[in-house]
Amino acid sequence: NTATERKQAASAAVAAGRRSNVVKEVEKLKQNREERRARQIEKKEVKEAMMNVDPGNPNWQFLHMIREYRDALEFRPLRATDPVESHQITVCVRKRPLNKKEINRKELDVVTIPRKDMIVVHEPRNKVDLTKYLENQQFRFDYAFDEQCSNELVYSFTAKPLVKTVFDGGMATCFAYGQTGSGKTHTMGGVFSGKQQDCNKGIYAMVAKDVFQYLNMAPYKSQRLIVTSSFFEIYSGKVFDLLADKAKLRVLEDGKQQVQVVGLTENVVSSVNEVLQLIQAGNSARTSGQTSANSNSSRSHAVFQLTLRNASHRVHGKFSLIDLAGNERGADTMSANRLTRMEGAEINKSLLALKECIRALGRRGAHLPFRASKLTQVLRDSFIGDNSRICMIAMISPGMNSCEHSLNTLRYADRVKELAATDPMEE
Ligand code: ADP
Ligand code: MG
Repeated sequence: NTATERKQAASAAVAAGRRSNVVKEVEKLKQNREERRARQIEKKEVKEAMMNVDPGNPNWQFLHMIREYRDALEFRPLRATDPVESHQITVCVRKRPLNKKEINRKELDVVTIPRKDMIVVHEPRNKVDLTKYLENQQFRFDYAFDEQCSNELVYSFTAKPLVKTVFDGGMATCFAYGQTGSGKTHTMGGVFSGKQQDCNKGIYAMVAKDVFQYLNMAPYKSQRLIVTSSFFEIYSGKVFDLLADKAKLRVLEDGKQQVQVVGLTENVVSSVNEVLQLIQAGNSARTSGQTSANSNSSRSHAVFQLTLRNASHRVHGKFSLIDLAGNERGADTMSANRLTRMEGAEINKSLLALKECIRALGRRGAHLPFRASKLTQVLRDSFIGDNSRICMIAMISPGMNSCEHSLNTLRYADRVKELAATDPMEE
C-alpha cells in the first residue's frame, strides 16, 4: 500500500508543480499585457503631443479627425520620375501651402493629396445635435500636385509635354483655374517674393525656354520658323492689349468662322530674355492703377501667346497660356453694385462656355459653343482639330475658410474631364 501511497503522493506533487507552472504562465501573460497597455498609453500620449492637438483652437476636433484620416493613409505623392502621360485633355489640381496669415489665424488645412492623381477635401460638418464630423470628398484627376511641388515639377507634367504639339503644327492651350489667391498667377507668371514676381520661375517663361530649345533642334531647325508673342486681357467681355497701353481691341469673325483680334500687338522674339521682358511689361500693365491685388486682375482673364509662323508668315502652331479670372467672381451676380454684378455674370458665362468648349473637343464632332463668350471666341482654334491639346490646372487654397470655393473648383474641373474616382482607403 505504501508503494501506492508513494505513487499518489508523487503524482500529486507533479500536478501541484504543473499547477504552479500554469499560475506562473498566467501571471507572465498578465504582466505582458499590462506592459503592452502601458506602452500603448505612452505611445498615444506621445502621438497626441506630437500631433499638437490644441484645445485652444475652436476647430481642434476637426483637426484631430483630419489627422486621424491622414494617419491611416499610405501617401504616394507624385515624383519627378513618374511617367508623363499623353492626353488630348489633361486636367490636374494643385494645392498651395497655407500662407502666413492663415497659419497665424490657426486656419485648418482641410485638403489632403494622398496619391499622385487624387485629392480629398475634408469638409467640416455639424450634425443636428451639433456633433462634429468630416465629410471627406474625393476627386480624381490626371495629376494632383501637393503643397510641396515646385513650379518646375508642375510644368513638367502640364505645359511641357505640349511644346512639341505646337512644333508639329498644333494648338496647345494651358489654363490656370481657381479662386482668387489660390496660386494661378504664381504658377503661370512666376514665384512672388513680397510684391516682386520672378517671372523666370513661371510657366510662361518655362514654355518660352523650351520653345527656343526646340527651334534649334532637328527636325524643326530646318523649317525656319519665327516666334511671335502677344499678351492681352479680357475684362468684362472686352479685349485690352497688355503690350500696347491696354488699348481696347475689337474681335472680328470672318465668313469662315476665323476669329481675329484686330490690331493685337504681335512682337517677333528671338530669345528667352526678350520674352521675359514682354511678360514683365504685360504683368505691370495688367496690375497698374490697382489699389489692391484683389481688384481688376481677379476679374480679368490674361492670355499670353507664343505663336510659330513659317517663312510666308502663316501660323504653324500656337501656345496659349491663360491666367483665368477668379472663379468666385462668377458668384458676384448677387452683388449690390451693378458693375460688379455685370462683371460677375460675364465671368460666370465665360467659365461655363470654357468648360463646354473643352468638353466638345473631347467629344469629336460635338457642337462647339465658342461664341458664348469673348474668351472662348478668341480661343476658338484651341478647341478644334485633332492636333489641339489642352491642359487645365485647377488651383486650390487649402484653408478651411476656402472649403466651399475649393469644392466648387474641383466640381468644375471634374466636369471638364470626368475620371472615375476610387477610395484612397480601399487599397
Ligand atoms: P491668384 O493669381 O490665383 O489670385 P496668386 O498666384 O496671386 O493667386 O497667389 C496668392 C498668394 O499665394 C501669393 O502671395 C503667392 O505667392 C502665394 N502662393 C500661391 N501658390 C503658391 C505656392 N504653390 N507656393 C507658395 N506660395 C504660393
Ligand atoms: Mg492672379
